[in-house]
Amino acid sequence: MSTSATRTSDTNNPPASATVTVIGLGPMGRAMAGAYLDAGYRVTVWNRTASRADDLVARGAVRAATVEEALRANEAVVLSLTDYAAMYAILGPAVSALKGRVLVNLSSDTPEKTREGAAWAAKHGARHLTGGVQTPPSGIGTTESSTYYSGPRDLFEEYEGLLKVLTDTDYRGEDPGLAALYYQLQMDLFWTALTAWLHMAAVADANGIGLSEIKPYATETLTGMGQFLDFYTPRIEAGDHGGDVDRISMAVASLDHVVHTTRDSGVDPALPAAVLETFRRAAGEGYQDDSLTRLFEVFGRRP
Ligand code: NDP
Repeated sequence: MSTSATRTSDTNNPPASATVTVIGLGPMGRAMAGAYLDAGYRVTVWNRTASRADDLVARGAVRAATVEEALRANEAVVLSLTDYAAMYAILGPAVSALKGRVLVNLSSDTPEKTREGAAWAAKHGARHLTGGVQTPPSGIGTTESSTYYSGPRDLFEEYEGLLKVLTDTDYRGEDPGLAALYYQLQMDLFWTALTAWLHMAAVADANGIGLSEIKPYATETLTGMGQFLDFYTPRIEAGDHGGDVDRISMAVASLDHVVHTTRDSGVDPALPAAVLETFRRAAGEGYQDDSLTRLFEVFGRRP
């Protein structure tokens, strides 16, 4: 994250009565509570490990003695927890204080878990917005980062000012699972792409090529991916998997070279071998002369 990023506290003037409770003070929750303090909000905090609130309290946050006290302090309650199970563990014993609260749940989980969480909150009289934060803690409190939101549109619009203190917002729709779905889609790409880079770097390193030396080449390949997406997306949408520019059989041969290069370098080949296996499966299903985009359908048929 660029250090020249615009802080949201420079761009948003808080309403006179701006108050918020933040429950969950891991790296994310601490950054969020800090952003609200910077923006002039009156912030109440609670965390299972109470000492994690010390720095925030020194900066002016109010430490709630109990979860119930934290909930009753403010209408808007931001949750930043490991997952939704943590929400039940924390709020379950204090459900009587949930009535009338607005839970902005910025904890990651599956779309299904977030839908269940929204229904659980409604059962106890609370309204629920799901959030999928797309930045590490360093991006909290800046306008350059963004968070997916889903849930009731009127609730999102009512609280957008509060949400924009943290990051920019990207409302995805009424279904509470949508923000989590968009988040998980991005994570799918993020984890596989980043792992591929680490694997490539390990092979380079095993051959005496340092990470800094390989970095410009890795960056060029990753940056160029956008052009592949531009080219292939309309073809996939049109159901066109013609092998006029690339073929599955070519990918099998190429990946076989990658796997052998990896093995010869003394590096674990499991990652490219799994990709090779997927292409071999497509070839085995008779698609050897089709474009690699045929995988879009082959993946979708996996039980
Ligand atoms: P952490 O897992 O480090 O912190 C989570 C918080 O959850 C802590 O306050 C922890 O309490 C609390 N917690 C977990 N389990 C329980 C439980 N059973 N009972 C009570 N409290 C519990 O997460 P982060 O702060 O890094 O992230 C928060 C969320 O944001 C996660 O869902 C993460 O996936 C997501 N996220 C994180 C990013 C990052 O870069 N860190 C980036 C984008 C999203 P305690 O302090 O007592 O352990």
